Amino acid sequence: MLLNKLFGVFSNDLSIDLGTANTIVIAKGRGIIINEPSVVAVKHTKYGRRKVVAVGQEAKNMLGKTPDEIDAIRPLKDGVIADFDITEEMIRHFIRKSHNRNSFIRPRIVICVPYGLTQVERRAVEDSVLSAGAREVILVEEPKAAAMGAGLPIQDPKGNLVIDIGGGTTEIGVISLGGLVKSKSIKVGGDRFDSSIIDFMKKKYNLLIGERTGEEIKIKIGTAVEPEEEMTMQIKGRDQISGLLKEITITSKDVRESISEPLKEISVALREVLEVTPPDLAGDIVENGIALTGGGALLKGLDIYLSNIVKLPIFVCEDPLLAVARGTGKMLDEIDLLHQVSMNG
Ligand code: ADP
Ligand code: MG
Repeated sequence: MLLNKLFGVFSNDLSIDLGTANTIVIAKGRGIIINEPSVVAVKHTKYGRRKVVAVGQEAKNMLGKTPDEIDAIRPLKDGVIADFDITEEMIRHFIRKSHNRNSFIRPRIVICVPYGLTQVERRAVEDSVLSAGAREVILVEEPKAAAMGAGLPIQDPKGNLVIDIGGGTTEIGVISLGGLVKSKSIKVGGDRFDSSIIDFMKKKYNLLIGERTGEEIKIKIGTAVEPEEEMTMQIKGRDQISGLLKEITITSKDVRESISEPLKEISVALREVLEVTPPDLAGDIVENGIALTGGGALLKGLDIYLSNIVKLPIFVCEDPLLAVARGTGKMLDEIDLLHQVSMNG
């Protein structure tokens, strides 16, 4: 006990939100120290070897703009670990970068990973964290972290429902008494909105645009419901027929039409979770409403769109991009709670 207290004083404990799009690290007592895209740039060298040349923001800036021998990779893109080695390198990089060199005690690390990861993938994350120098690693369930970050009273004997829309996945969880009662993870998130927009531009305007432009369109003029005033945006791309660069003006109506399918998939998943939620807990949810977290929650009108379908109050939490990180940070703070909610504790 005493030793643990001592460790607490000198420690450099970290909480990490390892997202499919962004990784956020919070150091105990110091707040957010890293908030960067989960992207790794690798260079292909002779004999099929690969060398990491950049991680995080620097690597994301290379997406879609790399020369032949360099690849910008998102190792967790679809909520699965596409490449174990690269994932490990990314985790090590972020931990090294956040390490407080004054501290001689190895940190304890709480890490939140996409909920859909398999046991093997979770093990790989744990091993990477340990090999990066942690003395202890605790994995937490993402919907719980999201709910805590949204400020929901998850320890109460009441039903709390959270929808976390990240880059690669959407996670829906019903939590009561600190435990996950029902949950669902689907591989539909912000990335799918982007790719649907890209496909639409190809079909309707014969225009080829890249991932970054797709995301830009979504953020600027994407709406889930009809806005008071439709918006327009000029975009540049390559004409599929002539092969030449061209610029066109698109409308928010185009974008709404293009993202209707992924939106529907999210609403269907939400409905399915509500259908299997015990009636008493469902009653609480009717009263307290549903919290939206994750970057996808920032899509304009998403709360209204979902609320119209399930006929329940839905609200976007404060700073939704940081919700999971905040929740994971709280778990690190509340060690008692941690033992209750950790998956391996
Ligand atoms: P993850 O937890 O998977 O890393 P995040 O919660 O960081 O994901 O969310 C990233 C997603 O949020 C991306 O798909 C990004 O395009 C999207 N996003 C960020 N800001 C906005 C916005 N203003 N409107 C719509 N989507 C947004
Ligand atoms: Mg997330």
